[in-house]
Amino acid sequence: VSPWPEGEADVTKKIVILGGGPAGYVAALRAAQLGASVALVESREIGGTCLNRGCIPTKAMVAAVERLRAARTNADFGILAGTPHVDMAALSARRRAVTEQLRGGVEHLLATRKVELIAGRGRLVSARTVRVSAGRDGDGDEVEVGGDAVIVATGSEPTMLPLFDVGDPRVVTSDGLLAMDGLPESLAIVGGGVIGCEFASIFAELGARVTVVEMLAQLLPGEDRRAAAALAQAFRKAGVESRLKARVERVDLSSPDAVGLTLADGSVVEAALALVCVGRSPVSRGLGYEEAGLALDERGFVVTDDTQRTSLDGVFAAGDVCGPPLLAHWAYEQGAVAAENAVSGGRSAVDRRFVPNCIFSHPEVASFGTTEDQAKAADLPIAVAQVRFNGNSKAVIEGESDGYIRIIARADDRRVIGASLVGLHVTELVHELVLAARAGLTLDDVAATIHAHPTLAEAVGEAALGALGRGLHTL
Ligand SMILES: Cc1cc2nc3c(=O)[nH]c(=O)nc-3n(C[C@H](O)[C@H](O)[C@H](O)COP(=O)(O)OP(=O)(O)OC[C@H]3O[C@@H](n4cnc5c(N)ncnc54)[C@H](O)[C@@H]3O)c2cc1C
Repeated sequence: VSPWPEGEADVTKKIVILGGGPAGYVAALRAAQLGASVALVESREIGGTCLNRGCIPTKAMVAAVERLRAARTNADFGILAGTPHVDMAALSARRRAVTEQLRGGVEHLLATRKVELIAGRGRLVSARTVRVSAGRDGDGDEVEVGGDAVIVATGSEPTMLPLFDVGDPRVVTSDGLLAMDGLPESLAIVGGGVIGCEFASIFAELGARVTVVEMLAQLLPGEDRRAAAALAQAFRKAGVESRLKARVERVDLSSPDAVGLTLADGSVVEAALALVCVGRSPVSRGLGYEEAGLALDERGFVVTDDTQRTSLDGVFAAGDVCGPPLLAHWAYEQGAVAAENAVSGGRSAVDRRFVPNCIFSHPEVASFGTTEDQAKAADLPIAVAQVRFNGNSKAVIEGESDGYIRIIARADDRRVIGASLVGLHVTELVHELVLAARAGLTLDDVAATIHAHPTLAEAVGEAALGALGRGLHTL
């Protein structure tokens, strides 16, 4: 089999990639797979935000608190194993070990594919040249690396509000929180988006008193409001306080071991630690992008088309630096497409229609494609196939039967165009529906698919059957 989607590789190409996160390292692997010689410039650790300060360390913590949650309900299952205790040092050590193991795996792949790693801070000096200053801070010797094309994949970093003092140890971003080993007695999370909600679930389960302050009217802005309401209800049960439509007006650091956040309504949220997660900003300034002629949008994201070409011939961009959705799997996709086009000069394009959003809170939330509100706004007639997990055998067996599946289909031909799911393992279940949507399948196809019993996936089939008036395990 050929690694090429079509056509022949131009194996003489040299590709230079700036940034070794998911977008950059996948671009490197794909370009090397296609026969190009590849130089990958990274100033910190391979794996970027995802592996070192994002997806992987947070999900390692989620795995730990899932065990804690399960242990706390042992007696309900007839297992008497005593009261579980948290050893934060051991939990953090495992989180680091998981990160190191996976980073080692990526480094091995890059080495095997003969990708040249250049450790240092790079700057774009022309459409085909990057200047690299050795070392993390870029204060070492300079080298120039040239190629036939450059892929910029410098990612994103936490956005800080001017209101907060970044230097104070009681105010952290996700980077700071993941660098800590301890457990704060209380945590005020400013920003109720994906990152804020995942940390809220983690730290509440670990025993911290958690308050989430969100400016908008719902948690998880952008997700279906029913999913956000389900999460808010679960937060209430777990003792997490959600302050919605709440804006932080003042930050008080006068007390030695607490931070006080004064909200617009005059109330004060006090906590030992404030986590600011109000979004992420592109790493695109001071890297020669604008000087070289790359168009940035008003927020600083690099503008690309769907072939990942930028405004400058010969320069491609991929990942968070190109703007939302800021997701590792979207960065992978963009990186692979950028590499294909950089090597071949072709016009492979990313497909933005069905990118899954997975939120590893408790309960999990997953979605993709068209939402009900978007369909309504676009006057698109839809059918909604829905089922709750409380009628699903496996969910009841597992003792986690809160949540639901809602599949959005076009009313005329019943093609699946989106979904919103809340509950146990929905971050896995969503993919059957993503595949159905991508393949142009209908609710009838989903209903005709035999799902094994007893599984959570049965609920997907049951939702579709219900929409066709053929549900047997639901009324
Ligand atoms: C707490 C948290 C949890 C997350 N959880 C998830 C999740 O569960 N699922 C998911 O899909 N996404 C998640 N994300 C988002 C995900 O981490 C990002 O979408 C992903 O890392 C983007 O990849 P990237 O390669 O575009 O950028 P990055 O991962 O940011 O990588 C960019 C790389 O470029 C390097 N770099 C920057 N400038 C230079 C320079 N001048 N020279 C050399 N190197 C440079 C940086 O050091 C970095 O290594 C999470 C993010 C956070 C913060």
